[in-house]
Amino acid sequence: MIGIATPLILANGDHAGVLHLEISIDQFAAALGASPFGGSGYSMLLDRDGKLLVHPELAAFRVASNTSSDPNTGPFPAATALGSPSWRAEVSTIRSGAVGSTTFEEGGQSYRVSFAPIPDSNRIVAVISPMSELYADINRILLNLLVTAGPLLILMFGLTAWFRRRAARAKSGLEGLNERLALTNANLEQASRASGDLARESAIVNQFTELTALTEDEMSLADASLATLDELVHPDDASLHVSNPSQDRALVQATLGDHGAKILSLHELAGCPAVRRSSLYVTDDVAARLSFRCPVYRVTTGTLACVPLVALGETIGSVHLHWSQARELSLPARLAITRVSEHSALSIANRRLLLALRGQANTDGRTGLTNSRAFDEAVHQRLSTRAKGDRAAVLMLDLDHFKDFNDRYGHPAGDEALRVFASLLSTSIRDQDIAARYGGEEFAVYLAGLSEHEALEVAERIRERTEGTIIPIGPGQTGRLTVSIEIAVLPNDGTERAVLLKAADEALYRAKVEGRNRVVARTAQAMPSPKPAARRPRHRPTQAA
Ligand code: GH3
Ligand code: MG
Ligand code: MG
Repeated sequence: MIGIATPLILANGDHAGVLHLEISIDQFAAALGASPFGGSGYSMLLDRDGKLLVHPELAAFRVASNTSSDPNTGPFPAATALGSPSWRAEVSTIRSGAVGSTTFEEGGQSYRVSFAPIPDSNRIVAVISPMSELYADINRILLNLLVTAGPLLILMFGLTAWFRRRAARAKSGLEGLNERLALTNANLEQASRASGDLARESAIVNQFTELTALTEDEMSLADASLATLDELVHPDDASLHVSNPSQDRALVQATLGDHGAKILSLHELAGCPAVRRSSLYVTDDVAARLSFRCPVYRVTTGTLACVPLVALGETIGSVHLHWSQARELSLPARLAITRVSEHSALSIANRRLLLALRGQANTDGRTGLTNSRAFDEAVHQRLSTRAKGDRAAVLMLDLDHFKDFNDRYGHPAGDEALRVFASLLSTSIRDQDIAARYGGEEFAVYLAGLSEHEALEVAERIRERTEGTIIPIGPGQTGRLTVSIEIAVLPNDGTERAVLLKAADEALYRAKVEGRNRVVARTAQAMPSPKPAARRPRHRPTQAA
């Protein structure tokens, strides 16, 4: 007997219970043999000795294997010589009494066999199905999958490949980008460093420019130029030469370090390669065999930069910068040197032009003496800055009968007489004094630090020299002149310029009245005049003696 249990499921799907029944093994075997499993699968019943009890084609098997048809005695054909090698290999597993499943090959087909022992008996039931049937559905599913999901899969694979390629490309792009970013960063850093340098250089040059606008004399300008170059390119020693106003020497206006520069003739200065070429000349390594040695700045080692000072197309000097250790001067350094030197040259030239213009504005064109405006300014300045108790005298000088001189010898001769007198005047006074043409034939002299007595002596010397001077008129013709001089002194006659000049002017009138060719002091007696006046004085309407 064999017990069988099966769940009872009603048509509406309700679980009605479990049906237990017992049937004889023979009946079970007969039912089993009559119900083949699947289209070409089948069920088997065998005992643990390997005897095949039920098989849909048992009889055919028995005939083919030439075994007894008695199920109880006939051997299990597949366990003997019959059956494929892989079937025979699995028979021992099936007979082991375990529950399981395994596969084997038979006649070119794959089969799966599932087996289980029937409890409390030595029988084993097994179900064998060809794999093709067993997995027909799976194959169909696979086919469906392939049809429906295939394109998707292909798309997915394609996409994956595409993404992978893109990713690879993006990765290499990113790497390139990273490289470029790094390069850009480096460039930016360099640019920012360069812009920092540039800003610093600009600030220094701006300071220099401001300084040159405020600096009056050439030496300070030269000092400022070298100090600026020192800040910018740090030479170990340097010099700056500028030609003197008479254009025959180049003076050392500034130096740096202890090289020691000397005054040069302009011919010597022209030996400098930069002056000769009118542009920067750098000797990278002075010690190198083929290097040109600048005769203006003699060094034997290191690097030398020679720069001409050129303004308005004219070379007015040179700058020499020397580094003891040979180096390569960068382009920015060269530009900075050129820029500062150009500015320096222009500043010096401007200063000279300004002085020349100022000189012209302050000078009387006919005689070369200071004009009345500049004289007034200078006297005002001297008086306002004088120390208490300082003495000074002002002479007013008027040529006698000059109208007559003009009338007699002509206007050009009068001009020449004015020049002769002006020269006589300027050679009669000291450097600290000032001689001016104050009007037509009127002159003024400021005598610094002189007492009235000393001033009288100077005035008298001028009067005498004038009297003794022969004025060339033309071929074989000469003329003579005399001068009347009046003196006002400080502090006796006042301390203000206007008072002083007025005092001198009043005294002058007196001198005329008293006979000309004489010296009259505002507060003192006129010095005795050797010659009497040649003509009666004219009256000055506003003055009283
Ligand atoms: P006094 O002795 O009183 O000073 O007589 P004076 O003739 O010198 O004085 P006056 O003021 O009468 O004449 C001054 C003359 O000086 C008149 C003018 O023609 C002349 N004069 C002024 N400036 C110049 C100049 O630049 N060149 C020439 N040649 N003559 C000048
Ligand atoms: Mg006059
Ligand atoms: Mg006169």
